[in-house]
Amino acid sequence: MKTKITILGSGTSTGVPLLGCSCAVCTSDNPKNKRLRTSFFLQTKKGNHILIDATPDLRTQLLRANIKNVDQTIITHDHADHVHGIDDLRPFCFGPPPRSLPVYTHKECHKALIERFPYIFEKDYFNENRPVLGGGIPRLHINEVNSDGEDVDINGDNFQFHLLPHGHHKSMGIIHGRIGIFIDCSTIPTPVVKKLNGLSLDLLIIDCVNNGKHKTHLTTETAFELIKRISPKKALLIHMGHRLEHNQLEELCRDEFKDSSIDVSVTYDTMHIEV
Ligand SMILES: [Zn+2]
Ligand SMILES: [Zn+2]
Repeated sequence: MKTKITILGSGTSTGVPLLGCSCAVCTSDNPKNKRLRTSFFLQTKKGNHILIDATPDLRTQLLRANIKNVDQTIITHDHADHVHGIDDLRPFCFGPPPRSLPVYTHKECHKALIERFPYIFEKDYFNENRPVLGGGIPRLHINEVNSDGEDVDINGDNFQFHLLPHGHHKSMGIIHGRIGIFIDCSTIPTPVVKKLNGLSLDLLIIDCVNNGKHKTHLTTETAFELIKRISPKKALLIHMGHRLEHNQLEELCRDEFKDSSIDVSVTYDTMHIEV
């Protein structure tokens, strides 16, 4: 039995192509250069169907991947490209019987979600004077998780979460068994790097928005350095912007890691991985 991961989207906040842009990547015919916003669908060995992040492309992504059910959702942080598709979770609550869907996130993001979506998360938003009419609202309930790396149980599956620097925000890195998912961060703090190294990861999925330096994201330069320090069996880059061409980035990974035992490559939308 393996953990199955579907990459629902591999692009940065704008998606690729970038609206209005006619650069070589945005006009490329290679389907691997067409990137919806970054999110995943995880089928765990215990049979949970877990969505990671609810992008503005969520409905399209779930239809394209033929996903019929979501049991739980993990939200890494409250940036628009990771939460503004949250209303698309509504059909999974319809039933029959109608059900409420658990959402797992950290304290800061919980607060932001209530402010951003009061009609979903604010307890007293609807009342006798203002009942829910029409198609209803997503019946989501938030579970605030420990984000200092302690064990968190999600319906029998073990996860650990770590808060990571991400501009003015914090984003959550995810560990599930020997899989590390670190999709949106400017760095990974040294104690977390050491922990990941000690876990002998089978798979690390890691942010890589561009070349050079970036204030809120990892780049080829910084992601490559972290991959070497973490030393997983396999690493996959994600959250790419329109300056990174898929095949060229694959080549760059091959060159950089030609003398290493780490297999490094690049995610693309609809990619399926079993670990
Ligand atoms: Zn993002
Ligand atoms: Zn972000």
